[in-house]
Amino acid sequence: MVTTPESSVAARAKYEPVIGLEVHVQLLTETKIFCSCSTRFGAPPNTNVCPVCLGMPGVLPVLNRRAVEFAVLAAMALNCRIHETSIFARKNYFYPDLPKGYQISQYDKPLAEFGWIELKQNIGKKIGITRIHLEEDAGKSLHEGFADATEKTAIDLNRTGVPLIEIVSEPDISTPEEAYEYLTLLKEIILYTGVSDCNMEEGSLRCDANISVRPRGQKEFGTKTEIKNVNSFRFVREALEYEIGRQIEVVESGGKITQETRLYNANEGKTYGMRSKEQAHDYRYFPEPDLLPLVVDEKWKAEIAKQLPELPEARRARLVKDYGITAYDAGVLTFSKELADQFEAAAQAAKNPKRVANLVQGELMGRLKSRNLEIGDSPITMQGVAMSADLVESGAISGKMLKDLYDLSFERGKDFGAVYEEEGRPVQSSDTSTLEKIINDLIAANPKQVEQYRAGKKTMIGFFVGQVMKASKGQANPQVVNELLVRKLEG
Ligand code: ADP
Ligand code: MG
Ligand code: ZN
Repeated sequence: MVTTPESSVAARAKYEPVIGLEVHVQLLTETKIFCSCSTRFGAPPNTNVCPVCLGMPGVLPVLNRRAVEFAVLAAMALNCRIHETSIFARKNYFYPDLPKGYQISQYDKPLAEFGWIELKQNIGKKIGITRIHLEEDAGKSLHEGFADATEKTAIDLNRTGVPLIEIVSEPDISTPEEAYEYLTLLKEIILYTGVSDCNMEEGSLRCDANISVRPRGQKEFGTKTEIKNVNSFRFVREALEYEIGRQIEVVESGGKITQETRLYNANEGKTYGMRSKEQAHDYRYFPEPDLLPLVVDEKWKAEIAKQLPELPEARRARLVKDYGITAYDAGVLTFSKELADQFEAAAQAAKNPKRVANLVQGELMGRLKSRNLEIGDSPITMQGVAMSADLVESGAISGKMLKDLYDLSFERGKDFGAVYEEEGRPVQSSDTSTLEKIINDLIAANPKQVEQYRAGKKTMIGFFVGQVMKASKGQANPQVVNELLVRKLEG
């Protein structure tokens, strides 16, 4: 639920929001960024640790090559310029889950800059990506889920040293809707590259949202607040919605926005101040003395570029071209890489790819959605879809029969092929003698409609086709029915 403060519609229209997002993405390496500890999520607390990630005195970090490659892949996919040389820096602060007392990050010489994501809703609008840099994650403070949690905080350092990239956007985002779309596209692109699972529940993707308002037409930005660690895209949108209203209300009533970090309470739909700029950290960045400058030369960059898969936008364009489907169809079918892969395999196997696309959207997606299932949980596989498409294509079964078989598949939790066998490989009736009898009866029973048809109202054929289909319980071959009807009615 979004609780919007009572700022009037008129007041809202006077102001323009300015939004910039900082997104942390965990890279899917096997080992941590500066040591060989496992990055596996869900291991017992403090089991994936060693002197390096625990920050013991005298240990030395060794950069994980794979983490660099993943970061470069993400940067390429987001249209960034990759700097040949970037520098790791120490970001100093004290926090219980940061045993070293500093985080190794990148500061004034990040890995990549000047990227962008193009929005689709607001066609042609590009949201700039200021920078992408590599850094290590901190540990996790636990406030619940263990004995005497009411009095104590526990620290799990398994996450310390897990590789992250931070993706910082330009303040180009103008509405909560655009922020939502930017995040959705960003996640989609990262998932396609395969460098992260972007699992928000497990903290593999985290978002901080910066927001300010300014009178429309004003050039200078207003003072921003930062909403920290919102754990779903929907909540980011809601938190921004709330915060815009709150800021306008403050400014309208003659107040000033305090630059501060705020937290979003999703239950209340409100943000609360957490710490102001005066309390903000001075990180006293300086170049990390234990690491050499990171050099990604042309040769290495070219090698990494070869691992870059086809990205969603390019894939959509190709699907339209290769399978003769609409841009809309392509959009639905590339919702996830998994779905797109399965679709392509099925379409290539089937006689008519367009029919496969229609079945996935028309028959499969709706059934999945109404049962709250992911495509991965579908009882009907893409092979099943391809098989059903071919059966309709060859005229063996009717569209109505296909629908019934799909329903049975979902009821029984079995693939299309299995249900088709169980039902004894049903075929639609093209048996003209049975159909002819049905048609003769219909013509006799509906003289008025027959007269209208013969008087030139050709659309009346639809009425007869419908009646025949009904009488045959959907088993009749519509094409045969049509031909027979025309013959009888004209004859
Ligand atoms: P900070 O030093 O406070 O972290 P940065 O300049 O690094 O601020 O920007 C952090 C994020 O905030 C970026 O995504 C940027 O686009 C965004 N941002 C900067 N200024 C504003 C502003 N006035 N209003 C909204 N967002 C802003
Ligand atoms: Mg910043
Ligand atoms: Zn370690």
